[in-house]
Amino acid sequence: MKGKKRKIKTINIDVDKCVGCMACEVICSAFHSSPKYSSNNPARSRIRVIRDPIADIYVPVYAGEYAVAECAGRDKYIIDGKEYDECAFCRASCPSRDLFKEPDSGLPLKCDMCESDPAQEIPLCVKWCLNEALIYEEREEEIEEEVKQEDLEIGLEALANKYGLNNIKDVIERLSESKKG
Ligand code: SF4
Ligand code: SF4
Repeated sequence: MKGKKRKIKTINIDVDKCVGCMACEVICSAFHSSPKYSSNNPARSRIRVIRDPIADIYVPVYAGEYAVAECAGRDKYIIDGKEYDECAFCRASCPSRDLFKEPDSGLPLKCDMCESDPAQEIPLCVKWCLNEALIYEEREEEIEEEVKQEDLEIGLEALANKYGLNNIKDVIERLSESKKG
């Protein structure tokens, strides 16, 4: 079954335009501080700029999903004659580096597209990047309305934890009997 649409938000990066000013890190950490704008600490930012001024390398990377294990396939990249380190373009908070971890608790940080209260129409890092190295993009994607197997399992597990597995089984049996009748 089809029909529903979902809004996909992304930030495209133009590394050639980034000058490593760190304005994006400052505003992100300030927006996510508690109370809001009470402090700014780039270590708490959900966007970090990989900087190597001698090689003229600046790569803004915003935080994606948490990865429970280190990945095996790491590569160096050479683009336009510049050599980028392994992991330079990776958005995951992962066990092998400190990037995208809350400094006090070690909890992973993830970009929320500045949707936390008050939700921003345009992500703040994009607004604050005067060099236009960060380009915001919104698009709509059609999604299946069918319940995904994973969602179903998570829902059933939560119900089983709350009401007990046997009670859930009884209800399902009763429901299936009434459907037959
Ligand atoms: S604000 Fe823009 S130019 Fe400055 S570091 Fe961030 S991405 Fe680069
Ligand atoms: S979109 Fe918002 S939360 Fe995500 S990196 Fe930019 S400022 Fe931080």
